[in-house]
Amino acid sequence: MHKTKILVIEPVTHDVKRIRLERPEGFDYQVGDATELALDVDGWRDEKRPFTMTSLPEDPYLEFTIKEYPDHDGVTTRLHDMKPGETVLIDDPFKTFRNKGKGVFIAGGAGITPFLAILRKEREKHSLDGYTLIFANKRTEDIICRDELAGMPELKVVHVLSEDKEPGMHHGEVDADLIRGEVEDFDQRFYLCGPPPMMEAVQKSLDKLGVKADAVDLSD
Ligand SMILES: Cc1cc2nc3c(=O)[nH]c(=O)nc-3n(C[C@H](O)[C@H](O)[C@H](O)COP(=O)(O)OP(=O)(O)OC[C@H]3O[C@@H](n4cnc5c(N)ncnc54)[C@H](O)[C@@H]3O)c2cc1C
Repeated sequence: MHKTKILVIEPVTHDVKRIRLERPEGFDYQVGDATELALDVDGWRDEKRPFTMTSLPEDPYLEFTIKEYPDHDGVTTRLHDMKPGETVLIDDPFKTFRNKGKGVFIAGGAGITPFLAILRKEREKHSLDGYTLIFANKRTEDIICRDELAGMPELKVVHVLSEDKEPGMHHGEVDADLIRGEVEDFDQRFYLCGPPPMMEAVQKSLDKLGVKADAVDLSD
């Protein structure tokens, strides 16, 4: 495990924080990698939890975008209360997603994190043309990096809210009808990341729409 210092901790939404860490020497990773993080606190060092880097491999720091679950005393709740200068422990990186080319990225809540890294990388290369993001949340206030996503040139962003109704956004779930209405080509790559029940439902919808199973990427 690498012991590393918090550089920045700031809100992204009401329950999500951006946490930037000092990048340990030799911590090399690729876009779409994650690591396991533990609190550097007695009684918590073995409680490792997986989080995805939302920084780019060339950034001098490591960035994470982390949602807390304040209904119980877990790692995320404690992490949200930490301050710059305090330390955490991280393992070596491991692979979750790889960008296999343009396609449709379907995320639920904090499931956006690997796609955030992928989309940021493509923005940097000016190659977001042909990328679609379908992003499901409960309420408007839950949308992670809404302004940043809106400012990504050429990225088609489709917001889906299960609880709120907002002009320009879908109300409901990511089902076959919604996907059919937003996606023209089903012979392209689909990437899914979100809570397991949502992912199962979306996989069934894609199957119904004729998307081949080997064209669908889930986190490894
Ligand atoms: C590969 C991978 C990458 C990930 N990347 C990210 C990321 O970049 N950002 C991010 O925000 N998340 C990410 N996650 C999810 C993240 O790992 C979990 O949110 C985190 O492990 C939760 O840790 P915790 O100790 O706070 O909660 P845990 O105690 O581990 O609980 C996890 C879940 O169980 C529920 N739960 C457990 N016990 C209770 C209880 N007593 N009362 C109520 N609810 C309970 C919580 O609501 C929560 O949904 C990733 C997950 C994986 C597998």
